[in-house]
Amino acid sequence: NLSKRLQVVADYVEKGARLADIGSDHAYLPCYLAQNKQIDCAVAGEVVEGPFLNAVNEVSRLDLEETVSVRLGNGLQVLNDYDAITTITIAGVGGPLIVRILEEGRQLGKRTGQETLILQPNVNERAVREYLMNESYAIEAETILEENGKRYEIIKAKPSADKPAYDEKDLLFGPFLRQEKSSVFKEKWKGEAGKTRYVLEQMEKAERKNKEKLEELNARLKLIEEMIK
Ligand code: SAM
Repeated sequence: NLSKRLQVVADYVEKGARLADIGSDHAYLPCYLAQNKQIDCAVAGEVVEGPFLNAVNEVSRLDLEETVSVRLGNGLQVLNDYDAITTITIAGVGGPLIVRILEEGRQLGKRTGQETLILQPNVNERAVREYLMNESYAIEAETILEENGKRYEIIKAKPSADKPAYDEKDLLFGPFLRQEKSSVFKEKWKGEAGKTRYVLEQMEKAERKNKEKLEELNARLKLIEEMIK
């Protein structure tokens, strides 16, 4: 059984996908999808040897070598043209790392820009949404959930003909999540409001003030307070 978090990622993968799961660790996600015949094939990429070996063992234990190819390497570098990947999943890492993996992959010609992207940043979802927008990807679905006392957001995006016009609220809160306003969402942003207020207090006390940063944080706090009131 997958964690709730990875189950949402799995549910976002479309039937018949040719999947690249980058930062796969135990390869739980591609193995689950392969076992349930939800995907054509998968590449499980890992940059660290320990997790890479976890993935190799899991795939061999489940006898899935024909469907799931485990590869050691950085980001999308493990992909080849003949993999003809249709969906990329990156889960359980920070937003900025997701952006870096996608950007380096694009520069290296390891993704075409036509793939469906399913991303689960642990922090800084905003950076991911902003990158998606700049890459002309439209967010198709989003989920926020809580598991073992942690909150996770999962974002599914597809290439779009025009660059989507997300405003600051869409980027920060998520275009769907901010409409839905679930209880988990409100809890998250109550917590973020508190953190932001604290940072602002500390900055106000400082002898030398970074005016720009103060203004940015004040503007963000206003958006958050509006969102949760
Ligand atoms: N994706 C799984 C999940 O969501 O449960 C595993 C998440 S685990 C916390 C993050 C994994 O990403 C680690 O195993 C780490 O080695 C791997 N990783 C980090 N940077 C990477 C990169 N540039 N390329 C490939 N894998 C990477």
